[in-house]
Amino acid sequence: MSTIFSKIVLGIIPCYKIAEDDEFLAFLDINPLALGHTLVIPKLETDYIFDLDDDNLSRMIIFSKKIACKLRDNINCKRIGVSVIGLEVPHAHIHLIPINSISDMNFSKPKLNLSEKELLDLQSRILNS
Ligand code: AMP
Repeated sequence: MSTIFSKIVLGIIPCYKIAEDDEFLAFLDINPLALGHTLVIPKLETDYIFDLDDDNLSRMIIFSKKIACKLRDNINCKRIGVSVIGLEVPHAHIHLIPINSISDMNFSKPKLNLSEKELLDLQSRILNS
């Protein structure tokens, strides 16, 4: 059975896309820990990030770096935090989270409740930068 992220790749489920290439897709997390919280996924469904072969994983990190730089340019924050959890969606992904303090990386805290307009505005700001 395909994951929700594969359905996003196929366009069956919409997303707030930030960037893509042949292999990877970056889109806004719909339940973000911080404004600009973005997920990077391989388009080819793979459960666990460290099951990716070395070349794929290297390219995924380099793709993530480009997205992190875009986030840093567009969002007022000290760093872009990087995390891999994968307990909810069994499709490899990297969380990129604009942070100002360590507590911004706490996945147990309540998520932001952003409106569709806020997510669309953020997406368009990043896309147009
Ligand atoms: P985890 O698998 O624990 O790393 O968490 C999965 C992440 O995917 C969570 O932060 C969710 O908010 C996010 N997520 C789940 N479904 C969607 C979706 N349709 N679009 C964007 N983000 C999603």
